[in-house]
Amino acid sequence: MKTISDIAEWRCIRETLANKSIGLVHTMGNLHAGHLSLYKRSKAENDITVAVIFLNKAQFEGRDDDFSRYPRTVEEDKVHLVKENVDYLLLFNHQDMYPDGYQIQVIETTELSSTLEGALSPTYFHGVLTICLKFLNLIQPTRSYLGEKDYQQVLLYKKMVEMLFINTHVVPCPTVRADDGLALSSRNLRLNEGQRDKSRLIPEILMKTKTASEASELLENAGFKVDYVVDKWNRRLAAAWLGNTRLIDNIPLNN
Ligand code: AMP
Repeated sequence: MKTISDIAEWRCIRETLANKSIGLVHTMGNLHAGHLSLYKRSKAENDITVAVIFLNKAQFEGRDDDFSRYPRTVEEDKVHLVKENVDYLLLFNHQDMYPDGYQIQVIETTELSSTLEGALSPTYFHGVLTICLKFLNLIQPTRSYLGEKDYQQVLLYKKMVEMLFINTHVVPCPTVRADDGLALSSRNLRLNEGQRDKSRLIPEILMKTKTASEASELLENAGFKVDYVVDKWNRRLAAAWLGNTRLIDNIPLNN
């Protein structure tokens, strides 16, 4: 795997890959098996797989996540990426990605970016879409791999790709779960033992209930502070707090 931290160097390399299919996986690092499933899929479907690890400050504004507290584990992440035979790791810095100080932004103005996850901070998805567009332009991937765990993000990303005529195929990938059903997430590490045990109730309750409001009630009764449980886009989507940790999940409906 070649690690590249210079945008100009990457642009030169990209020119040599003109006839290759390229798969892109962007993450904020602290890789777990959920992320690794995206690299595996990309490796299986493309000549070249490009991993981007970029902790995007622009999307932390007004969120519970503390940008400074986000786990930075690049050396461990590299070991995973080498194991997955990823071809290129792009590690660009904030200044190089935002030389204008984030004055040019992608702003989506329909309900899609202001509801659910967007409701916490109206500018959250602007930050997500802006960084994604920058990397799409730099990498020009044939396919771009995203996890369904962040379902609203996948919908917005797809919409941006469609509306801005970006030449990439968006590949949503199923949520990877722990043995007890909890969706894998970097945030799971913040749960204490009791919370971790209780957290398995999220997927369990989403699946066993008939309505979103019933699911919400059961979660509240079990000690979660529920931000939302909603049936939308043919999924049941939820966000709930256990102590100081906010967990999100979604499952398909009508299956
Ligand atoms: P992150 O860096 O955690 O924000 O996520 C980077 C990518 O990995 C996004 O496309 C996420 O949807 C995806 N991802 C995160 N967790 C999982 C999971 N448990 N299963 C599948 N994909 C995931």
